[in-house]
Amino acid sequence: MDYHANILGTIGNTPLVKINRLAEDIPALVLAKIETFNPGNSIKDRMALKMIEDAEKAGKLKPGGTIIEGTSGNTGMGLAIAAAVKGYKCIFTTTDKQSKEKIDALKAFGAEVIVCPTDVEPEDPRSYYSKSFQLEKEIPGSWKANQYDNVSNLIAHYEQTGPEIWEQTGGKVTHFIAGVGTGGTISGVGRFLKEKNPAVKIWGIDTYGSVFKKYKETGIFDKEEIYPYITEGIGEDFLPKCVDFDVIDLFEKVDDKDAALMTREIAIKEGIFVGNSSGAVIAGLRRLKGLLGPEDVVVALFHDHGSRYMGKMFNEDWLREKGFLEAKEG
Ligand code: PMP
Repeated sequence: MDYHANILGTIGNTPLVKINRLAEDIPALVLAKIETFNPGNSIKDRMALKMIEDAEKAGKLKPGGTIIEGTSGNTGMGLAIAAAVKGYKCIFTTTDKQSKEKIDALKAFGAEVIVCPTDVEPEDPRSYYSKSFQLEKEIPGSWKANQYDNVSNLIAHYEQTGPEIWEQTGGKVTHFIAGVGTGGTISGVGRFLKEKNPAVKIWGIDTYGSVFKKYKETGIFDKEEIYPYITEGIGEDFLPKCVDFDVIDLFEKVDDKDAALMTREIAIKEGIFVGNSSGAVIAGLRRLKGLLGPEDVVVALFHDHGSRYMGKMFNEDWLREKGFLEAKEG
């Protein structure tokens, strides 16, 4: 018999798939690492499990304990799945701008979700950020995962995602390109690949409204760079500890419209149904294609599944409302 002891055994070992029609004019071989094959449909299952296992080992999380995190997205899903298997309680704080579907998906795994106002400063006690720290203080036996500063996030990708890419390409990978949020994915994978071959280039995708690109290029944390944007999962208004700027060779910024429309193109032209940051990655890669040659092997990371974006880029009314599609006549 061939089976896993529980669903957590199915995390990782995701496929690498060639990008064809969208890479016709790119001189290199372009391969997508499709993380939707994880049980929570995103790469975040890997780091969620790793953060929990490391907290268990360190004695920070004990049987019957409560996992707390400020999240509504993929990290919450990964934590909720592992918590269901391991018997922990989960409490997530999120903002009122998140879709009901996302919140309901976390509740489906037995998690409690506390919705906080969006339009308050992070330091305000009502913010989803402050609320998660307050809960950690108040609830006995609780542990806050803290994905932005928790190095287990980065280590998960150093130990798993990086080695998988190295093996799947037979060591031929020359470029790795991924969206950057907490920085765990790019820093962990990048560190591993550069240890194997220092010539491998690591390219980060950032958004307009985020500080990463300017910080990498100038060393300046420029508050002028910060403004609201639509693209989900990538870009930040602060510098998370998990972003290792030394490992990243360059950042490219992609705007909301290009990311949204390319997300749709990936489904239409490649038959791969993935989320908003995957669109940003392919749009950014297409802009950087002048740096590539026929010998190059690019691995592009697809973080999550398209089903999370049905009310957004896969909805024509939403696209029109945002001005991303021309309004139909009549
Ligand atoms: N894309 C999506 C959809 C995400 O949820 C995240 C995580 N914030 C990222 C990209 C960026 O990954 P990381 O946090 O590892 O930098």
